[in-house]
Amino acid sequence: MSLLDIRSLNKTYAGRGRTVEALRDITFSLDAGELVCLVGPSGCGKTTLLKCVSGLLDPTGGEVRLKGRPISGPPPGMAVVFQEYGRSLFAWMTVRQNVALPLRRKKLGKARQTELVERALDVVGLGDTHDAYPWQLSGGMQQRVAIARAVAYEPEVLLMDEPFAAVDAQTRADLEDLVRRLWRDLGVTVLFVTHDIDEAVYLGQRTIVLSSSPTVVREDLRIDLPDARDQLHTRSAPRFAELRARVYEQIQRAKRERHPDPGAEAVTTRP
Ligand code: ADP
Ligand code: MG
Repeated sequence: MSLLDIRSLNKTYAGRGRTVEALRDITFSLDAGELVCLVGPSGCGKTTLLKCVSGLLDPTGGEVRLKGRPISGPPPGMAVVFQEYGRSLFAWMTVRQNVALPLRRKKLGKARQTELVERALDVVGLGDTHDAYPWQLSGGMQQRVAIARAVAYEPEVLLMDEPFAAVDAQTRADLEDLVRRLWRDLGVTVLFVTHDIDEAVYLGQRTIVLSSSPTVVREDLRIDLPDARDQLHTRSAPRFAELRARVYEQIQRAKRERHPDPGAEAVTTRP
C-alpha cells in the first residue's frame, strides 16, 4: 500500500458568476520515503493540488488518502513549506519561537521541544541565529527557518510549494542540496512542487509532469540518475540533459494542445 494516494482529484473554484476548473483529474501515489517532484506551468494548479493534498482545501471530487485513510482537514503527520516565506514567518517572533510554533499542537514537554527546535536549526545550518528575528535574516536564511519549522515537527510527509522561487540562484542550489540531504537523513516522504524543469529533474526520484490548466498528469517519469547528486556533475551529465529535454518537451506539447498561443504561460528553464 502506498503512503499517499491521490485519486481522481478534481477542484473547481466557484465564484460570483465565474468558475475555474483548476484540477481536472489527478491520480498518482507516493510510497513511503520517496522524493517526488511535481512540475507544471505557472497557473496550472500546483498550489491548488498541494492545498488539497494537505487538507487545507476541500476538493470538488476525488480523494486523498494518507496510509489508506481519507484526509479531511490537515492531518497530523504532514508539514507544508510555502513559497512565500516572508508571509509564513511571524515578524514579532524570534527564529526559535517561529520554529517552535507548530510543536504546541503536539503537547510535548519543554525539554523535548527545545531539543527538536535546536536540532532542526542545526540541520539547516542556522545553529547560531536562534534569537534573531526573521526580518534580520536574508531571504535564503528565512526560507531555512521555514524548513527548520517543518523539520522540527518531524512530519511523515513534507510538502513543499515552490519554496525556492524567490531566492537567488546560488542560495537556491544550496537549498536544493539541503532538501536532498534532509530527505536522505530523515527518511521523510517529500512532495516538491516547482515550475523549474531543471530543479524537478535534479531533486526527484520521480518527476510528475502536469498539463496546463485544467490540470491532468501528463507523465510520471522515473529519474534514473545516481542517488549521489551534486550541482556540478549531475547537471552536466548527459542523462540529466536527456531527462530535462523530455520534461521540457512534455510541457511544451501540453501547452500547444490546450493553448493556441504557445507563449500563453510561462515555464522557466535555466540557460
Ligand atoms: P499554480 O500554483 O500552478 O501557479 P494555482 O493552483 O495557484 O496554480 O492556480 C490554478 C488556477 O486556479 C488558476 O487559474 C488560478 O487563477 C485559479 N485559482 C487559484 N486559487 C483560486 C481561488 N481561491 N479562487 C478562484 N480561482 C483560483
Ligand atoms: Mg503556485
